[in-house]
Amino acid sequence: MTQLPVAERAGVRRAAAGLVRADRRPFAAVLGLNALAAGAGLAGPWLLGRIVDEVRAGGGVGAVDRMALAILLCSLAQLLLSRWARFVGHRFGERTLARVRERYVDRVLALPASVVERAGTGDLTTRGTADVTAVGTTLRDAGPELLVNAVQAVFLTGAVFVLDPLLGLVGVVGLTPAWVALRWYLRRARAAYLAEGAAGSEVAESLSATVAGARTVEAFGLADRRVATNREALEVSRRARMRTLFLRSVFFPAVDVSYVLPVAGVLLSGGFLHAHGSVSLGAVVSCAVYLQQLAGPLDEVLMRTEELQAGAASFARVEGLAGAPRARADDSAVPAHDRIDVSGVRYAYERGGEVLRGVDLTVRPGERLAVVGPSGAGKTTLSRLLAGVDGPTEGSVTVGGVPVVSLGPERLRRQVVLVTQEHHVFLGTVRDNLLIAEPAAGEGELWAALGAVGAEGWVRDLPDGLDTELGAAEHAHSTDGSQAQQLALARVVLADPHTLILDEATALLDPATARNTEQALAAVLEGRTVIAIAHRLHTAHDADRVAVMEDGLLTELGTHDELVAAGGAYAALWGSWHGEPSDGTAAAADGAGPAGGRGGEASVYRK
Ligand code: ADP
Repeated sequence: MTQLPVAERAGVRRAAAGLVRADRRPFAAVLGLNALAAGAGLAGPWLLGRIVDEVRAGGGVGAVDRMALAILLCSLAQLLLSRWARFVGHRFGERTLARVRERYVDRVLALPASVVERAGTGDLTTRGTADVTAVGTTLRDAGPELLVNAVQAVFLTGAVFVLDPLLGLVGVVGLTPAWVALRWYLRRARAAYLAEGAAGSEVAESLSATVAGARTVEAFGLADRRVATNREALEVSRRARMRTLFLRSVFFPAVDVSYVLPVAGVLLSGGFLHAHGSVSLGAVVSCAVYLQQLAGPLDEVLMRTEELQAGAASFARVEGLAGAPRARADDSAVPAHDRIDVSGVRYAYERGGEVLRGVDLTVRPGERLAVVGPSGAGKTTLSRLLAGVDGPTEGSVTVGGVPVVSLGPERLRRQVVLVTQEHHVFLGTVRDNLLIAEPAAGEGELWAALGAVGAEGWVRDLPDGLDTELGAAEHAHSTDGSQAQQLALARVVLADPHTLILDEATALLDPATARNTEQALAAVLEGRTVIAIAHRLHTAHDADRVAVMEDGLLTELGTHDELVAAGGAYAALWGSWHGEPSDGTAAAADGAGPAGGRGGEASVYRK
């Protein structure tokens, strides 16, 4: 498996900036509202200080009441503003998340099939689910909260400095132990909690294994060993728990004490300064309250930073797709004719040796070519190259002089389509399932395509016709094997390629289904060049030409009769399959054995 790329730090930053730019105004509104809310929050402690000064100066109850009312109003304003800020922030987060999701889907769809195959769908799925969700959580919670609290912390600290720079300095210096404690904790917490989780799983695993294998344990007298194993797991778990307990028992008291330090420092030095008359008592009170209030936002900022980092890691994986090779976008070259030329093709999978070792082949327009050979000869690999799923390692596969792999999906499906045994019914309506192949198709064309593959009847019988939902949902119609295959074939009719590559699509289906679809298939094949990876020799017999592949090489090429007359590998294959009905050597051709069904078997090239 070749992992898909992960975005670099700079790439993540650029992408994040791009997301902010895409929603510039709401983002500015979030910042502005937060600043207003934090500003309103500053009024309370400041007014409190004014009250102190006022009372000391002999101010009356009236003045105190007025300021108390102002405090109340400011608190209310802060409440409303910060609620509003959160609301705008969350909307921004949701919109941005939608953007991230959509872009992810677009990028996944733009990946060349070969890249997806190499990377494995697991990686793509994890990125599309767990990672996108993590990015969502960051955008929804961590991001806005971080912003709100960071703005508050900055404003609170700034306010202290404005009131008295010296007291501000004392406050900031007083905060350093809290900062140190937090860094100390955060640096150790992640690993410690991960270890605790892992140790917990280990205990459960070891215990359930012992229970599940109780009989075996008894029979082999392994009880002591199992007990020892469990004890060991428990001991590891105990140590892991003691470790996190230790971290908590140091961190929480340390932080609680640390947050008192700036307040105590400001009160002490403030008292001293006040005694020398360089600062009013009210200012000291305001500063102390500001610093007291700083604890909450600071805590939040540091904790959320952790989340933000985790979110950034996920974002790097989601954004990494930007760096993956894209499906060929260069769609300028137009094939001059319908002939497919394979010349000097060599191909090796990522792992393993050469699977194709120099194949030359010209497929004439309109011909029926069967490719036969033992399992592992490279037939499927050749069909993938012919269909442009991947490019050859060496040599070229061209249609009308243009490399097949360089054709864009729109153009490619007018040329060559690969029909395999995997038929996927997409969630959506019948119409959706068909329009994938030809988005511009009208109602009439859709029905014509369904008619060509014999699916018109059952689709007409569906409650909503073309607009019936397909799938496993309650209200949806669930298609059976032959209907799924008919839909796939109807897509081929709509795409209307001049060449079809058939990995004998009906070979694995039950006979009744196969009969149905063979008729459909015959209609689809009409008038096209067909290259069939033949699993059954009937197909080869009925083909215009037969190509025999052995061990990555094309060893024989000619009509059925020529090859039989030549007495080579194909003749041997044909003889053993056709000559002796009972000796079971039919398996010599890939899949031509009993599974292929011999007696009443029909070839896809019914003449
Ligand atoms: P055939 O269709 O004739 O059975 P294939 O083209 O499927 O042959 O396989 C040819 C060789 O390539 C086999 O040895 C097979 O193991 C190998 N192969 C097929 N697919 C892959 C893959 N995805 N990665 C690595 N090796 C592969």
